[in-house]
Amino acid sequence: MSQSDDCLFCKIIAGQIPSEKVYEDDTTYAFKDINPKAKVHVLIVPKQHFANVAELAREDSAQLGHIVEVAQQIADREFHGAYRLIFNTGIDAGQTVFHVHAHVLTGETLDE
Ligand code: C5P
Repeated sequence: MSQSDDCLFCKIIAGQIPSEKVYEDDTTYAFKDINPKAKVHVLIVPKQHFANVAELAREDSAQLGHIVEVAQQIADREFHGAYRLIFNTGIDAGQTVFHVHAHVLTGETLDE
């Protein structure tokens, strides 16, 4: 599994930094965002390190598809399948952690 020594989310996946896990399988980890922007705000990350969603799509499109499936499962459980999926990509779009992560916002009706 490729990891980056300085990556916060690689450390969370490895259990070196605590997180509130909501889902895990061989390739994918999901945990509650520490600064939630909705009633349910989960981050889904591949265990392998990719910097952003464009790199993930280029190098492992099946993993990207799997992240969407996991988001759907969480939203099915939390809010009858309704959710918002966000990949901030680049500093100017608000990306602060450079290990690709899908923000799943659900659990309540969301403003436009
Ligand atoms: O898209 P962006 O890179 O800004 O998202 C990073 C997210 O990681 C933030 O929503 C932040 O609250 C979350 N975070 C976290 N646990 C940490 C550090 C950051 O949930 N230990």
